[in-house]
Amino acid sequence: MGPAAGAGGAAPYDPEVVHAKYLAERDKRLVPGRADIRDLRADEHFARYRDDPFTPVTARDPVTEEVDVVIVGGGIAGVLAGANLRKAGVTRIRIIDQAGGIGGTWYWNRYPGVMCDVESYIYMPMLEELDYIPTHRYAFGGEILSHLEAIAARFALVDDALFHTGVTRAEWDEDGARWRVHTDRGDVVSCRWYVLAVGILNLMKLPAIPGMEDFAGHAFHTARWDYAYTGGGSLEPLDRLGDKVVALLGTGASGIQCVPPLAAAAKHLYVFQRTPSAIGVRGNRPTDPGFGDGLGHGWQRERMDNFQAIMLGRPVDVDEVDDGWTHHYAAVHHPPRREGMTTAEYLRSAEELDYEIMEEHRHRVEELVSDPAAAEILKPYYRYLCKRPCFHDEYLLAFNNPNVTLVDCPAGIERITKAGPLVDGAQYEVDCIVYGTGFEPELTPLFRRVGHEIVGRGGVTLADKWADGAASLFGMTSRGFPNMFVMPAPGQQAVVTVNYTQVAVLGGEFVGRAIGMLERGGVQVFDVRAEAEQAWTQKVVDSFIDASAVMSACTPSRINNEGHPEAMNPRNGNYGRGMGDWFAYRDLLEGWLEAGTFEGLEVERQPIPS
Ligand SMILES: Cc1cc2nc3c(=O)[nH]c(=O)nc-3n(C[C@H](O)[C@H](O)[C@H](O)COP(=O)(O)OP(=O)(O)OC[C@H]3O[C@@H](n4cnc5c(N)ncnc54)[C@H](O)[C@@H]3O)c2cc1C
Repeated sequence: MGPAAGAGGAAPYDPEVVHAKYLAERDKRLVPGRADIRDLRADEHFARYRDDPFTPVTARDPVTEEVDVVIVGGGIAGVLAGANLRKAGVTRIRIIDQAGGIGGTWYWNRYPGVMCDVESYIYMPMLEELDYIPTHRYAFGGEILSHLEAIAARFALVDDALFHTGVTRAEWDEDGARWRVHTDRGDVVSCRWYVLAVGILNLMKLPAIPGMEDFAGHAFHTARWDYAYTGGGSLEPLDRLGDKVVALLGTGASGIQCVPPLAAAAKHLYVFQRTPSAIGVRGNRPTDPGFGDGLGHGWQRERMDNFQAIMLGRPVDVDEVDDGWTHHYAAVHHPPRREGMTTAEYLRSAEELDYEIMEEHRHRVEELVSDPAAAEILKPYYRYLCKRPCFHDEYLLAFNNPNVTLVDCPAGIERITKAGPLVDGAQYEVDCIVYGTGFEPELTPLFRRVGHEIVGRGGVTLADKWADGAASLFGMTSRGFPNMFVMPAPGQQAVVTVNYTQVAVLGGEFVGRAIGMLERGGVQVFDVRAEAEQAWTQKVVDSFIDASAVMSACTPSRINNEGHPEAMNPRNGNYGRGMGDWFAYRDLLEGWLEAGTFEGLEVERQPIPS
């Protein structure tokens, strides 16, 4: 088949030329050591990068006590679990978090310009219950944080929480039928029900660039923005940077959001880019004053469902969110299949569609960036489905500022010296390095994400049990770890949703209602039946699609396991093909709760000696 005409003035699609270009760009980035990172928990020099710059740590005595539920993590998931537990009548709830307050991601990420990527009317949870309408289509971080704090306050989750407290170990006490939770503040909290809501992007990532520790200037990660150094605030000018040369490393979702404010404030800004993101139109704007008019009961769930249906390629009457996710992301993941198409034709048309969307993005760069050399470097040459897309209206324009220099380093930064980054032998002298290098991927095994050892029945740790892959019922419970729930997350036999909040809402409702039901049913201990776990895990394995043929041609990113999609473990997949079958998963969990028979669980009802 010959070249096809591209849409919107795109160059005709010639598969051979496009494949060759994409592979050449991929190969520049497939360099040994690219995925090496500093382990911030173990690295003495860099451990300080995790310190909380936002809230002073106050001294307190260790706590030894007994509660009904411990929730590890006070982000969206933890707050929603807590709120639903309150609704179920549970009284003694302890949230424990390393952060100095509620919010999780939104507590930690306060960098200038931070905002959500998914429309706020579906991303910010419990809008109906709190009778709140976000001020912007894509809310800024501070507003999301305040909203989560408001939910936590409404459900009385704050006063009993232990903040600035890291859980270091949890062990199941068989005789007492309790979890004993130990922290880095010397606390020992015993609980009947243990809930892990530790996050999906909770582990900041610092690349392992040689010489980082030699840098003589100031450095920090975007997830711990140092306003004492930069001045300003997340929506205020960074007024202490006027005489500072700043290096920003990383142009993913966080990096791109903080470029415009840095460009506006710094004496000079160097942006070090390994892989350009595809930057779609954001179209952010204040909420239409009439938005709330006529919204009926259940409107938020309906809007979330409408978005999710589009993400799964299902027909809908109207696209309520109507943005880059519903247009581009949904299109490339569910290309139309005309009747009579062979598989080869279908794959080719999917590629063509992807190409047209990427050409649109590349044209957008040309239109917005006046320096053709910089524009070329900013053009993403890979398939849209290869890397999480970004959306922004000011990012590309920032490269027109004379004080902004883009540094192309597909193979990464050679070294960081006392003076700053070194790339291809060129030394960039800077006062400050901002690491916009993101987070360990969502697929990081749960036993690493939780940041503590979890010791279940017979002294078996979660790390041991899941060493060869996840094993669960619903992606939320695991045999040998009685009375423990894990909020659903990627890589864990649940489902993945582009709008994470939707799965957190479901997880929160499930945990709250399930614990309420177990309590009312007089259940002291539950564990997962071996056959139920085996069947669930098998379903996950059976629905795994090996996409490594497509994904190995991608530019390396966290979506394709940094260029090694073949290493993805089917057991760490989802319930249903691809991102999982969200609607079936929700029906199943809701049906399980409705039935009230604890199917798949072994339950012990006898009283436990106190
Ligand atoms: C800048 C940014 C923007 C984002 N935008 C979107 C978006 O638009 N849409 C979307 O769907 N997703 C987005 N995400 C992903 C985001 O992480 C999730 O949407 C969501 O906030 C995760 O909530 P969570 O409660 O699961 O985890 P988190 O918010 O990460 O909270 C987990 C908490 O657990 C605590 N914790 C972990 N381990 C321990 C331990 N051992 N002891 C004590 N505390 C512990 C952590 O300190 C953290 O506060 C974004 C992420 C970032 C970083």
